[in-house]
Amino acid sequence: MENPIPASRIHYLAGGGELGGLIRDYDWGSSSLGPIDQWPVTLLTTLNIILNSKFPMFLWWGKDLIQFYNDAYLPSLGENGKHPKALGQKGEDCWTETWPVIEPLIDQVMNHGQPVWSENQLIPIYRNNRLEDVYWTFGYSRVNDENGLFGGILAICYETTVQVENLKAIQHQYQQQTQRNETLATTNQELTDANDELVQEQETIQIKLSLLAEKEERFKNIINQGPVAVAIFRGPKFIIEEFNYKVLEYWGRTAEQVKDIPLFEALPEARGQGFEELLTNVLLTGERFVASELPVTLFRKGKLGTTWINFIYDPIRDAQGNIDGITVICNEITEQVNARKEVERSFQQGRLSKEAAQLGIFDCDIENNIFEMDDRCRVLFGVTHSGQVTYEQDFLGSIYSEDHHKVSVVLKEAFDESVSDGDYDVEYRTMKPDKKVRWIRSKGKVYFDDQETAIRFIGSVLDITEQKTDELRKNDFIGMVSHEMKTPLTSLNGFLQILHGRAGKAQEAFNIGLLSKAIYQVKKVTNLINGFLNVSQLESGKIQIQKKPFVLQELIEELIEDLRLAQTTHTITFYTQDLVTIKADRQKIENVISNLLSNAIKYSPQGKHVEVRCTLSEGRALVSVKDEGMGIKPENISRLFDRFYRVEDNNQISGFGIGLYLCAEIIERHNGKIWAESTPGLGSTFYFSLPLN
Ligand code: ADP
Repeated sequence: MENPIPASRIHYLAGGGELGGLIRDYDWGSSSLGPIDQWPVTLLTTLNIILNSKFPMFLWWGKDLIQFYNDAYLPSLGENGKHPKALGQKGEDCWTETWPVIEPLIDQVMNHGQPVWSENQLIPIYRNNRLEDVYWTFGYSRVNDENGLFGGILAICYETTVQVENLKAIQHQYQQQTQRNETLATTNQELTDANDELVQEQETIQIKLSLLAEKEERFKNIINQGPVAVAIFRGPKFIIEEFNYKVLEYWGRTAEQVKDIPLFEALPEARGQGFEELLTNVLLTGERFVASELPVTLFRKGKLGTTWINFIYDPIRDAQGNIDGITVICNEITEQVNARKEVERSFQQGRLSKEAAQLGIFDCDIENNIFEMDDRCRVLFGVTHSGQVTYEQDFLGSIYSEDHHKVSVVLKEAFDESVSDGDYDVEYRTMKPDKKVRWIRSKGKVYFDDQETAIRFIGSVLDITEQKTDELRKNDFIGMVSHEMKTPLTSLNGFLQILHGRAGKAQEAFNIGLLSKAIYQVKKVTNLINGFLNVSQLESGKIQIQKKPFVLQELIEELIEDLRLAQTTHTITFYTQDLVTIKADRQKIENVISNLLSNAIKYSPQGKHVEVRCTLSEGRALVSVKDEGMGIKPENISRLFDRFYRVEDNNQISGFGIGLYLCAEIIERHNGKIWAESTPGLGSTFYFSLPLN
């Protein structure tokens, strides 16, 4: 036992619970503080306060900072920690783990007398067998000794670990909450976004729906205005539920007359024509029904009439698959059927006429190289075999050799769309099997594709042998008569010329005038006779073209001069520039020009003017004769050059209608061209052009 605590001091250290006992029993004599009886009163007084306080307190005393504390402080030292070793221990030895934190604070209090206050400060300490995070709210204050020098440091401290941890937990919870809130906010945002998307989607759906509605409307419109009749019938009574304009047009009814009315009530006349049975069958079997070209009697435009239709009945099924209606798509083909019947009728007529006229038909499919002749055509071409005919052998090969050239020229023109428009019209001879000749008139047409390539050649052939023989006979007769008349006319002309000469010498003006007119009239008759002769020669192929070069202007001037002498009713002017020399049959070209000149005078009133021109144009001679006469209607122009053609209105003017025909034949034989332009009432211009050689 140490020195007992003197009675004068014991009351300072009385009580104090466990620590009171421990302090009293501690061997202070071996500490730097020395035995209790040597302790300063300030230490004892302070200890008295500490030991009797229920507030955790701690005291470092002396330069070694020897430690004291009270029971209230014990929980902060924990189990198996620094207690009880901390009592009497040097501060530095006791708080090795926290000394770096505490020492500066102690120094501040000890050496500078400044108290320290800290709240919820983390000062980890070793307790409960481990280093624990301990939070403190504490204040250090200096305790002076009786001399006013540093005695010790009183630490009144309160462990706030629990509160801090609670606070931390709360903060943590708060953070979590905040996080949750943020997550919630994010989720909320996402929900809002999703909602926005939904709204947008809804808008898109709305747009799509209205587009769909628009499309449906458009579709309905198409159906409504479409060219095909469409209707929907519902139930066993075939109530007319839907229909378009075309149906109404076909039925000849208004919408009010059919809407929601059973079909056969709306169209009673359609009963008994088999449609009820057909529709019922579709309802019962669910099988589509397709009909083509069916006659239907309907009451339309105030009367019953037969119509023709193609139609389809299609079953309509409900959601359960039951058939509860029929869609009808119908196309009225009455016009087509009637047109076809008309074609059939025309075809029949054509066939009959063909048979009656004994027309033969040939058909050449150029694209596929197929040539066909009907029986009559075969006879006319002298085809004796019954096999496939060929263009070369049976068509061309059957043509009489003398006519080959003529046919090939016409064929060449017919196959040139720009020249003939495909028209083919020619007379030629074929050989019969008995080698006799047969005359044929053939008319046909060549058809072209878009590239102007001939694809088909169809034509008819007619036996004109009899007619031709008659004509030839007639021509021979005309030729003979004309020939016989030529000699007396030539004599007559000669006598008149002599008389005209004598009258001239005797200066018998009256006789000169009469004889000039007589000579002109004889010339006219001679020309006419020559015309007939030429026609007959032409027809029998005896006309000869004898080409020699001559100056065209000279010929024209001669003819005009003759005319001026013979007539005074019209003025004639001649315009020319270049000298045009051509190689042609002068006599025949003379016939042509005098024909055109006499027509110009014949078909225009007295006192009018005739204008003749001769020029070189595109390397050809071009002659025109222009009058101020009555003119020719456009529809007659193309026929002017036909044989014996005369414009009907001109009946009071004499003529035979062979002049222009001869002109055309002569010009054609010179490889030239002849044509006319005219304005009725104002006058006509006749042109011909000739190659120079
Ligand atoms: P013709 O004069 O003998 O009747 P043409 O062959 O010369 O025969 O003429 C055929 C028809 O063409 C005439 O009947 C006439 O109707 C018409 N024709 C010819 N030339 C003219 C013209 N210059 N002006 C008006 N019509 C004409």
